[in-house]
Amino acid sequence: MPLTVRPRRKHSVRIAITLLCALLPVLLGGVILYMQAERTLAQSSQKTAEEALLQFELMLDSTAQAARDLLPLAGQPCENAKLALREQVTRRPFVRSTNLVWDNNLYCSSLFGDFKEAVKAGDYVQGKLWLMNGNPVTPNTALLVYRLSDGRGGALTTLDGYHLSNMLRLIGRHTMLLLQVGDNWMSANGQVRQGVLPALPVAHTMLDSSRYAFSVSAGFPKGETWRYMAEQYPPLFSLLMFFGVVSGAIGHVVQKRSTSPSHEMLRALEAGEFVPYFQPVVHGDSKKWSGAEVLMRWNHPKEGLVRPDLFIPFAEHSGLIVPMTRALMRQTAALLGPQSSTFAAPFHIGINITASHCRDLALVKDCREFLASFAPDSVSLVLELTERELIEPTEITQQLFEQLHALGVKIAIDDFGTGHSSLGYLRRFNVDFLKIDQSFVAMIGVDALSRHILDTIIELSAKLDLGIVAEGVETQAQADYLTAHNVNFLQGYLYGKPMPATDFISALSHH
Ligand code: C2E
Ligand code: CA
Ligand code: CA
Repeated sequence: MPLTVRPRRKHSVRIAITLLCALLPVLLGGVILYMQAERTLAQSSQKTAEEALLQFELMLDSTAQAARDLLPLAGQPCENAKLALREQVTRRPFVRSTNLVWDNNLYCSSLFGDFKEAVKAGDYVQGKLWLMNGNPVTPNTALLVYRLSDGRGGALTTLDGYHLSNMLRLIGRHTMLLLQVGDNWMSANGQVRQGVLPALPVAHTMLDSSRYAFSVSAGFPKGETWRYMAEQYPPLFSLLMFFGVVSGAIGHVVQKRSTSPSHEMLRALEAGEFVPYFQPVVHGDSKKWSGAEVLMRWNHPKEGLVRPDLFIPFAEHSGLIVPMTRALMRQTAALLGPQSSTFAAPFHIGINITASHCRDLALVKDCREFLASFAPDSVSLVLELTERELIEPTEITQQLFEQLHALGVKIAIDDFGTGHSSLGYLRRFNVDFLKIDQSFVAMIGVDALSRHILDTIIELSAKLDLGIVAEGVETQAQADYLTAHNVNFLQGYLYGKPMPATDFISALSHH
C-alpha cells in the first residue's frame, strides 16, 4: 500500500502529543500513589494515636486506683498512713510515689514520710492532672501527677515520666507522637515543654481522652509523603515508567495512522498529484479513435505512479472522490479543450463516477463547466458508473440524471455483467452505453458460458438500443469476434494502454 505518511501535523506538535501520552499515565499514576501514601499515613497516624490513648489511660487507671485507695486515709497522721502509701507504690504498676493532702497541704509522702508542701489546685488541669518537668527529688524528669480530693482531704499519686516517654517511643516508632496535658506537652525524648505543640503537617491526628484530662497528637513532619513513596513504591514507579513508555509508543503509532490515508490524499489533492491518463476507445468497424477513457493516476512523490484501485476505495470512503474527480475533469478540460477544434466528430470522453457523486446535483455544474471548455458539439461526455455499485433511485438521483441528459451528458454502466442491474434500472436512468466487463472479453474462445453471457449482453443492448463498449480487448481474435457481433466500440491494450496527456495528444493527431 503506497499510502505511506507524510505527516500533516507539525513535527514538534507530534512530539508534544507523544510526550503527553507518555507522561499522562506517569502523572496520573503518581497522583494516585501520592493519594494512596497520604491515606496510608493518615491511617497509621490514627492507629498510633488510638493505641497511645489506650495505653496512657491504662497507666492512669493504675495511678487513679492508688489515689482512690488512699483517699480515705487523708487527715490521718502520717505515721499511721505512710505504710499504706508505700504499699501502693510497690503494688501498683507505673506508680512512682503517693502522697496525702489536707487543707491543700501535702503532709505525708511515700518517699519522705512527714513532709510539708503547699498544693495549688490551679496547677492541675480540671483539678486532676499535672504534667510537670520533675520535682526536687528528680529534677528534669517528667512526672504526671494525679490528684483526687474530697472535702479537705486529698491524695496525689504520680506516674513516672520514664514510662510515658518509653510508651511514646515504642508506639510512635514510625510516627511523631506527643502527650499533652493542658498547656504542657512531652515527646519521646522525655522533656516536658509548655506552649504551642510542634507542627505535624502531614496526617495530623489529635485524640482527647474521655476519661482523663489529656490528649495525644500523632503525625508526620513536612515531606513525609514523598519520603514514604520513595521508600515504599520504587517497584510501582518502575511499572509507571513502563506504562508511560508503552502509552507514548501507542500515541506515536496512532498519530502516524491518523494522518493516513485520507489526510495523505487531501495533501496530494492540494498538491495536484492526481493526474489523468487517457486510454483510447476505437470504433468497432473502422478502428479509428472515437474517444478516450480518463483514468486517474496518483503521481506520488515517493512511490511513483500509483494504480487507482489502490487509492480509489479510500477516496470513496472519505468522500474525497468528489473533489478528486472535479480536479480530474478540470485537468482533462484544460488538456484536451484546446485540441477540440480539430475533432471531426464528437469525441467521447469517459469519466468514472461513483455513488458519492449522486447524492447531490453538484455533478451537473462540474459537467457544464467541463463542456464549456470544448468547442460546441466537439465532445460527448460519458459518465461511467460501475454496475457493482448501483445507486438508489431517489428523487435527487432522478433529478441529477434528468439534468445531465438535458446537458447532453451520456451515462454508461461500467463493468456490465458483474453486477445485478435490471432492465427497469437501465430504463429509469436512461442509460446510453453498456461497457462489457473485461472478464467476459478475456473468455472469448476460452469459456463457452462466458461467451454465452457476452452474446446475451450484446443482444440485450441491441434490443434496448444501447451503445456497447467492450473493455480489455487484448487480442486480434477478441477484436474480430466483437466486430463480427456488431459491438460499437472497443477499448484495450490492443489499441493503446492508458497514457499520459502528452503521449495521448501526440498520438491523437496520428489517428
Ligand atoms: P475501469 O473503469 O473498468 O477501467 C478500466 C481498467 O482496465 C483500467 O485500469 C485500464 O487500465 C484497464 N485496462 C484497459 N485495457 C485493458 C486491457 O486490455 N487489459 C487489461 N488487463 N486491463 C485493461 P486502471 O486504470 O488501473 O483502473 C482501474 C479502475 O479504477 C477503473 O476500472 C475504475 O473503476 C477505477 N478508476 C480509475 N480512474 C478512476 C476515476 O477517475 N474515478 C473513479 N471513481 N474510478 C476510477
Ligand atoms: Ca471505467
Ligand atoms: Ca470496467
